[in-house]
Amino acid sequence: MVKVRQRSEPDLLKELGGYKCQLCGGAIQRTDDHPYVEAAHIQPFAGLTEDGVPGNYLVVCAHHHKAIDVGSPVFTLDPSTPPTFAMIEVQEMDGSWKPYKVIPYPRQATYGFWEAVRWRIAHPR
Ligand SMILES: [Zn+2]
Repeated sequence: MVKVRQRSEPDLLKELGGYKCQLCGGAIQRTDDHPYVEAAHIQPFAGLTEDGVPGNYLVVCAHHHKAIDVGSPVFTLDPSTPPTFAMIEVQEMDGSWKPYKVIPYPRQATYGFWEAVRWRIAHPR
């Protein structure tokens, strides 16, 4: 019997995101030369829909993950025009605030990996 290791949802999201921060495009280059990013659960985006697909994850760099989790990010949902974007305003390292336009990732536990892949191919960044 061949055992296939189940990949975690955050790992799949990072792969879909091309291992780049959805806000700044950055990543930490690890010692093994692989880019390091994190998957952030964005609860305010949970109800956001595009083609009926809720999205509440962003792939972000370590700084922007912390800026979202422990900072005071401002979330704005604009479901009026497809494709559905969301605005997130976060504090940068220099103290300034910067708005970013993002398309959150669908929650794969609900929709499955291949649905998420098809969704991402249909909605390139
Ligand atoms: Zn970033």
